[in-house]
Amino acid sequence: MNVLFFGPNGSGKGTQGAIVKDKFHIPHIETGVIFRENISKGTDLGKEAKGYIDRGELVPDSITIPMILDRLKADDCKNGWLLDGFPRNLTQAQELDKALKNEGIALDIVIEMVLDRQIAKNRIMGRRLCANDNNHPNNIYIDAIKPNGDKCRVCGGALSTRSDDQDEEAIDKRHNIYYDTKTGTMAAVNYFKDLSAKNNGNPKIIELDGRPGVKEVSSELLGKLGQS
Ligand code: AMP
Repeated sequence: MNVLFFGPNGSGKGTQGAIVKDKFHIPHIETGVIFRENISKGTDLGKEAKGYIDRGELVPDSITIPMILDRLKADDCKNGWLLDGFPRNLTQAQELDKALKNEGIALDIVIEMVLDRQIAKNRIMGRRLCANDNNHPNNIYIDAIKPNGDKCRVCGGALSTRSDDQDEEAIDKRHNIYYDTKTGTMAAVNYFKDLSAKNNGNPKIIELDGRPGVKEVSSELLGKLGQS
């Protein structure tokens, strides 16, 4: 099963993506995580990407598109993949669609988490990262996933903030890109919705209300995926 997962920063897309990954045993490929891993390892890719990420800008397509198309060729993607954070603009959507068609790979499902911009912003600023596991959700502004003091609520690991999460200007820039229906991420979402409309509902489009808590959203999602 090949899946695209869209949602603004702060919508809980990473958390829900991890649930889908576990249920379907497919790799959860997060562009942002790949970049951050490269930054912490000090690779050339990380050095190139860091400035863009800190400013809340997109890493150029010339770097991001080949990186992801290459990642989809890895062995663990043979039985499917879940892409999260890519495509992030219309060009990336068109290039992905073209590459999949060239390889004869079907895109099965497109998930869109829908969330108001201001709610998403508050959630980002409250987000805390667990040192032990990137998929341990902690947020000081969400009761259901409040950290245990200053430690991870799941494993007790040390918590930190992402440098680009505490900078309001950078958050606004990221949301400007997401909610842009001309060339930004919403243009990419609409690209796949149009494709689906022209192609008898393929890929299947799943819209999710991102406002409820993690459990409610995941049960709605799994229900819509036929896994409840
Ligand atoms: P995220 O973890 O998804 O919030 O991504 C963090 C940052 O990585 C973004 O603000 C961008 O600077 C960069 N990034 C992530 N995905 C992409 C992408 N598909 N294209 C370009 N830059 C990206």
